[in-house]
Amino acid sequence: MTDQVTVFEDHKNQRIEYSTCYMCACRCGIKVTVENDNVRFIQGNRNHPTNQGVLCAKGSAGIMKQNSPAKLHQPLLRKPGTARGAGEFVPISWEKALDMLTARLQNIRSTNPDKLAFFTGRDQMQALTGLWAQQFGTLNWAAHGGFCSVNMAAGGLYMMPFAFWEFGDPDWDRTKYFMLWGVAEDHASNPIKIALEKLKRRGAKFVAINPARTGYQAIADEWVAIKPGTDGLLALSMVHVLLERELFDWDFLIRYTNAPFLIIDAPGSSDHGLFWRNAAGHPQVWDMCTQNFADGMEAGSNPSLSLLDKHINPAGRTVRTVMSLMIEKYLDASYAPEQVSKITGVPAETIERLALEMAQVAFEETIEIDCEWTDWTGRKHDKFIGRPVSMYAMRGVSAHSNGFQSARAIHLLQILLGTIDCPGGFCAKPPYPKPVPPPVKPAQHSAPNQPLSSSPLGYPTGPEDLVIDEQGNPKRIDKAFSWETPLSIQGLLHMVITNAHNYDPYRIDTLILFMANMAWNSSMNTAEIQKMLVAKDSEDGEYRIPFIVVSDAYHSEMVNFADLILPDTTYLERYDTLSMLDRPISETDAVCDSIRHPILKTNRDVRAWQEVLVDLAGRLQFPAFVHENGEKRYQDYKDFIVNYQKEPGIGFLSGWRGKNGDQHLRGEPNPRQWEAYIDHQSFFQHHLPLNIRYFRFVNQAYLDFAVEAAYIPKAEPMFIEIYSEPLQRFRLAGEGVYDGPRPTQPADRERLAKYFDPLPFWYEPLEQQRVSAEEYPFFAVNQRPMMMYHSWDSQNAWLRQIIAQNFLYMNRQRGEHLGIADKSWVWVESHNGKIRVQVKLIEGCQEDTVWTWNAIGKQSGAWALSPDAPEATRGFLMNHLISELLPEKTGERRLTNSDPITGQAAWYDLRVRIYPAAPGEEGTWPTFPTIKPLPDEPRPVDRLRYHTHPPVNLKS
Ligand code: SF4
Repeated sequence: MTDQVTVFEDHKNQRIEYSTCYMCACRCGIKVTVENDNVRFIQGNRNHPTNQGVLCAKGSAGIMKQNSPAKLHQPLLRKPGTARGAGEFVPISWEKALDMLTARLQNIRSTNPDKLAFFTGRDQMQALTGLWAQQFGTLNWAAHGGFCSVNMAAGGLYMMPFAFWEFGDPDWDRTKYFMLWGVAEDHASNPIKIALEKLKRRGAKFVAINPARTGYQAIADEWVAIKPGTDGLLALSMVHVLLERELFDWDFLIRYTNAPFLIIDAPGSSDHGLFWRNAAGHPQVWDMCTQNFADGMEAGSNPSLSLLDKHINPAGRTVRTVMSLMIEKYLDASYAPEQVSKITGVPAETIERLALEMAQVAFEETIEIDCEWTDWTGRKHDKFIGRPVSMYAMRGVSAHSNGFQSARAIHLLQILLGTIDCPGGFCAKPPYPKPVPPPVKPAQHSAPNQPLSSSPLGYPTGPEDLVIDEQGNPKRIDKAFSWETPLSIQGLLHMVITNAHNYDPYRIDTLILFMANMAWNSSMNTAEIQKMLVAKDSEDGEYRIPFIVVSDAYHSEMVNFADLILPDTTYLERYDTLSMLDRPISETDAVCDSIRHPILKTNRDVRAWQEVLVDLAGRLQFPAFVHENGEKRYQDYKDFIVNYQKEPGIGFLSGWRGKNGDQHLRGEPNPRQWEAYIDHQSFFQHHLPLNIRYFRFVNQAYLDFAVEAAYIPKAEPMFIEIYSEPLQRFRLAGEGVYDGPRPTQPADRERLAKYFDPLPFWYEPLEQQRVSAEEYPFFAVNQRPMMMYHSWDSQNAWLRQIIAQNFLYMNRQRGEHLGIADKSWVWVESHNGKIRVQVKLIEGCQEDTVWTWNAIGKQSGAWALSPDAPEATRGFLMNHLISELLPEKTGERRLTNSDPITGQAAWYDLRVRIYPAAPGEEGTWPTFPTIKPLPDEPRPVDRLRYHTHPPVNLKS
C-alpha cells in the first residue's frame, strides 16, 4: 500500500468555459474544461435548454476536432503554373489574399454582380451571409437547404405557420402518441433522445415509419417498414380513413384553417381554383347562421364546411368549399388502404389501425390546461384543449422529388386531428409561427454597385415573383425561382457547378464556397463534378468556372479544387451567434438564442469566416457596412453583432439589450452584450407565459408579443392553408390560363399542371418514373450517421473508432435469395453508374431497399488521412450512382433531378440492381487519385492519437 493519493485531475490550472456545440443542427450547450490553452474535455451543459447536460459522441469528440491534423494553417493560393485540382499550393498572406479578392469582387460588383456565386454549406449564419450577398448585389446566393431538407421547410411553411425541421417540435412532456417519419438519428439528435426517454417512461406509444430499423426506430414500439418515396401516400390513406369515418376535428378546421373558404369552380378560366374574394381581398365563406356569404376574415362569422353542395355566388359563379374538394379527393378509392398497401408495402390493416389509434388518442384522451386566453376574434377561452398526438418528419420524406407534397400530406393528417400548436401536439418554436407563407419575396433584379432590394431568397406566391427574365429564362445560376422549380426557397446548391460549367444560363466569374464539400459527398455525380471543376473553355483556354474560393477549417476534398483557400477557425476559436434572425435554438415554450466565443487562442494563421465577411463588406463599401464618409461602420464581427440593427431595437442577439443590458428581445445596442452572454453560460432564454404558449397562430396576446419582438409584421391571425392558392396560381400558369406570366416550354407547362396541386397529393418520384423497376429492382437510400455526419470528422480519432468504413445494408432474406453472402463484395448499378461495395445482411431493412451511411467514404489523402485509410479503400459514396439531372427524355431539355416544386435534391429516388462481385474483386470502386498534402500539413499517420493531457499514472 502506498500512502500517496492518486490525483486524477489537478483543477488548479483548469478553467471552465461555456459555449455551443457545432457538429449538428441541435446546437447543444457545452461546458469546456481548458487546461494550458488545450481542451481537457467537453461536457454537456446541464442548464442549457437544448440538451440539459446530454452530449453525444460528436459533441464529446469536439476535442479531437481541435486536434485534427487536417486543420488548415494559412491562406493558400494555387501554385502559379499548376493545374487546378493538382493539389499544388503556395502560402499567401491574408493581406495579399484579401487585396486580390477585393479587387476581383470590386470589378464584378461594378459590372455584373451576378457573376459572383456565393454558396455555403452547413453553416449556421445565413442571416449574415444572406445580408452580405444582398449588399453585394448578387442574386446567386444560397446555403445548403436545397440539398438537405428544403421540402420539409417549404412543405410546412406553404401550409402552416411553422414546419418540421427546426421550426417546431412535439410537446414532448404531454404527447401520448408519437409518429416519426423518415428520421435518421443525425437529426435533432440529443433533444429527440431525451424526448424518447420521456415518452418511454410515460408509456406513450412511439411509431417509426422508415425503410430501415436503425437508431430511433430500433426502440420504437412499432416499426413500419415502408418503401422509400411512398410516405405521402401512406399519410393520405390515413386521411382517407379519418374522413371516411368522420374522425376529424370540425372546430379546428372551421376556426383555424381555410377548409371553409370558398373556391371558384370554373375550369378553363383564369380564376379557377382561386379563392372567391370580396372587395377587401378577403376570402369568402358561407355563414351557417345568416345563411349567406360572409367575409372569412371577419370575427363573428360562422363558416360552414358545406361538405356536399356547390353554391352559386351573387356574381353567378359556382363556388365550393375547400372541404368539399378534400372530401372528393381523398375519399377516392385510390387512397383506400387496400390500394395504398400495394405501393407502400404497408399492410392495409396496419394503415387503418394506425389512423384509428391516433383518432382515439386525439379525441378520447384529450388534455386540458386551465388557463385563460383570447383568440384573434376576441373569443375568450378558459382552457387550452390539447389533442396529444404528435409527429416529426425529416430527410427520409424530404429527399424525394415528391417530398414537398409528402410533407404537406403528413401535415394534413396532423391538421385533421387538430394537433397543431396545442398541448400534446406539434408546436412552433419562436420566431415561428409566421404568416403562411412568410411575407418575404426573393429579389428579382440586380444592378452594378447596388444592393438587392430584398434577400436573394424568399417565398414566391405566384408566377410574378419568379426570378426570370423577359423571355422566361432563369436569372440565377442555380435556376432557383424559375419555371423549373418555382418555390426553391433555399436555392439549389447541387446545381451550381453543373450550371456554371455549362454556362447555363450564363458564365460566372467567381464561385465562393464556404464549408460546402461539392467535390465529394455534397454533390450528386461526384466524379463528373470533379471533371467539371477542372474543365476549360475550348475557345479562351480558361477554366469554365474561372476562379474558385474555398473557405473551410479542414482539408476537405473541395479544398483541393480551390484557386484561393481562406482557412477558417474551429468553433472553439471564434465568435458566432445562433440568432433569432437566423436559426435560433428556441424551444417550443421559450425564445432562446446562443453564442460561441473564443475559448482557445488560434495557433495558426486562420480567420473566422464571419470576420472575413465583415472585413470584405467594409473594403467593398457595402452601404450597410460603411458610414456616409466611407469609413467602416464595424470594426469586426463582434462589433457588428452588437451594433447592427435590422430595425430599431432588433439585432442578432435578443438577450441583455439596452445601454445597461437590462432589456430583452428589443432594445438599443448594449456594448457589453457579448460579456453578458458569456456571463450567462453563452445562451439566452425567455420563457413564454402560459397564456401565450399554445394556439399562437390565433392567440391574440401571442400575436401582440410577436409583433413587439419583430417576429411578424402585424398582429393578424395566421390561418392554416390546407388549400394553397399560390400553388394553384402556378398550376393555372401551367394550364396556360393564368392572368400573368406563363411558361412557354412544354416540360414546364406539364410539370406545373401536374405537380402544383393545391391540395396535398402523391406521385411516383420523378427518376423512378423514368427508370425501369424490373431492371433496377431495389430502392437505394443514404442515412447520415449520428456518430459522424455533421462533424465532417473522418479524421477524428475517436469517431473513427466507431466507424471507419460503411457497408451496404440489405435485407437478409432477400440477399440470401440472390446468393449474396454477408460481408461479400457486390456491384451496385444505377442508370448513372456503378460502384463496388461490401454488403451486410440485416433483419431491420425493408425487403426492396438497400441503404448505407453517407459521408464515411473519403478520397484518398483528403482530411489528412493516410492514403490507404479504410475510408478510402473500403468506404464508399452512393453519390456516384446518383445524377443531378433526370434521365434524358427525347425532345426535352435536361431537367434537374429535384423536387419540381422546391428544387430539393432528390437523393433518395435512386433505384439500383445488385449482383455479386467476381472472386477476387474486392475493395471499393471507383477509386480516385490520392490528394497531395498541403504545405505545413502533418504527415498522415496510421493511427491518430493525441495526448491532450499527461497520462494519469495510477501506480504513483
Ligand atoms: S453533435 Fe449535435 S447532438 Fe451532439 S452534442 Fe453537438 S449539437 Fe448536440
